[in-house]
Amino acid sequence: MSYDYLIVGAGLFGSVFAREAVKKGKKCLVVDKRSHIGGNCYTENMEGIQVHKYGAHIFRTSEKHIWEYMNQFVEFNRFTNSPIANYNGKIYSLPFNMNTFYQLWGTITPDEARARIESQREGIVGPKNLEEQAIFLVGTDVYNILIKEYTEKQWGRKCVDLPASIIRRLPVRFTYDNNYFNDRYQGIPIGGYTQIFEKMLDGCDVRLGTAYTPEMATLADAIIYTGTIDGYYNYQFGALEYRSLRFAHEILDTNNFQGNAVVNYTSAKEAYTRIIEHKHFEFGTQDKTVITKEYPQNWTPADEPYYPINDDKNASRYEKYLSLARKERNVHFKGRLGGYQYLDMQDVINMALNFAKEEL
Ligand code: UDP
Repeated sequence: MSYDYLIVGAGLFGSVFAREAVKKGKKCLVVDKRSHIGGNCYTENMEGIQVHKYGAHIFRTSEKHIWEYMNQFVEFNRFTNSPIANYNGKIYSLPFNMNTFYQLWGTITPDEARARIESQREGIVGPKNLEEQAIFLVGTDVYNILIKEYTEKQWGRKCVDLPASIIRRLPVRFTYDNNYFNDRYQGIPIGGYTQIFEKMLDGCDVRLGTAYTPEMATLADAIIYTGTIDGYYNYQFGALEYRSLRFAHEILDTNNFQGNAVVNYTSAKEAYTRIIEHKHFEFGTQDKTVITKEYPQNWTPADEPYYPINDDKNASRYEKYLSLARKERNVHFKGRLGGYQYLDMQDVINMALNFAKEEL
């Protein structure tokens, strides 16, 4: 059997590309080493609740065409991510906004909150690392209660040794707005993510539980490889490093465990960074509940790769793999793992659609 494309990985990049390729009449074979499609977006029904098995995925985008693209497969609900933080038994609003500042200081107006932050800036002007960036943005109180310990357990490194860019993902607002994201569109697919992938992969041959081997290269004219680029080249320049996660899922005999989909534990006392209660993504009314504790882990090549470690050592290693990749004529390294970069879902869809436009 000969295919136009062998797509390695049935995650978001691979599945969007597969869908576009099939629409253009291409024959595609999709292989994935896992026993299911959907990559890390995969959701599984437990007790009638859609469980995000590889961490919470909240879809959002500011681009209308990306929103409409996803809505052709499934209807989205009106979920808005408003996580709360638990620090030593006290609750704070996230992201950092007027509600948080009121809880911390009793400040009522934006001017009062700004003045507080200003007085806690410790004279920082050009922030050089995550600690300085955080204190510059929100002052020492927010840093100590909501950022420092959480970030150090998440990354396994000191905030002074982490890049400022990590914290710039989070909004700081001088309005009473607990929406974690700024995007124009946001929601959770009603009935879970997996059905989206089933629709995207319709018309392709899919082989699950099938790891890529070099012999497969003869099956197709071109390969879209969304696995780890260093794995493809047998780690010959050393492994690209990641921060990993362990997800501990529990079914509980209560209908409401924490009253919110996402609760961050910002103290070092708990080993997990957050607890997800999945039913709240879909306003569920089931008798039971499913929660997931998320434990950051050191990564070894046997573990799942989640967050790329974007330091100089890994950047130069990645460049070496990229120089091999550039010499390939028929292999394209794509997605989060192929590109060794942290990507939100909307970025992946955009990249896959743009690549499909060029390629097909
Ligand atoms: N962060 C924090 N406290 C929080 C939530 C996030 O300090 O309660 C910091 C932390 O450094 C984290 C970064 O903000 O790595 C990005 O957080 P985000 O929630 O975007 O991480 P993700 O959900 O993508 O893992």
